[in-house]
Amino acid sequence: MPHNPRGQVEVICGCMFSGKSEELIRRLRRAEIARMTVRVFKPAIDDRYGAKAVVSHLRDEFPCTPVENARQIVDLCGGCDLVGIDEVQFMGPEIVKVVDDLARRGKRVIVAGLDLDAFEEPFGPMAELLVRADYVTKLHAVCVVCGEDATRSYRKSGTTGQVEVGSDQYEARCRGCYHHGPEAAVAVA
Ligand code: ZN
Repeated sequence: MPHNPRGQVEVICGCMFSGKSEELIRRLRRAEIARMTVRVFKPAIDDRYGAKAVVSHLRDEFPCTPVENARQIVDLCGGCDLVGIDEVQFMGPEIVKVVDDLARRGKRVIVAGLDLDAFEEPFGPMAELLVRADYVTKLHAVCVVCGEDATRSYRKSGTTGQVEVGSDQYEARCRGCYHHGPEAAVAVA
């Protein structure tokens, strides 16, 4: 991914278990090798593996700062070349303008998040971030039912709130198996 000194926005999206945090960490490490100054944030809501690191499902880690809102990112990222944000779907709508403003100030901004919630609806600010981005990477997990590329996060518990943090609550499914509901899981067992 070329670094544009005039700033750029990259979005890494996909369903649960698609490797978004892993891909974010890979880009952050490459930027550090290129001697860019990197600052990484994630919403304070996400404390699955400890609040102060971006952690992939393979337990790879990169240090980050938890934030309560998008303005805090602006306050904390002065002087850096690259701003990374993980789990960006949990940020409020103001993150869209903040991301654009950071890029306008010449920063490379990389955000990673779930594009769809468990009900196949755009998650938080993701749709708006995706259409405004310069580069979009959509990653796929493996459907646990049929083994094809998965784009959906299927919630096993059947609860209806949009936010239910915890990867053990979900499985990755393709479009078809998502709509087969709980019976599809029985077929595998
Ligand atoms: Zn499937």
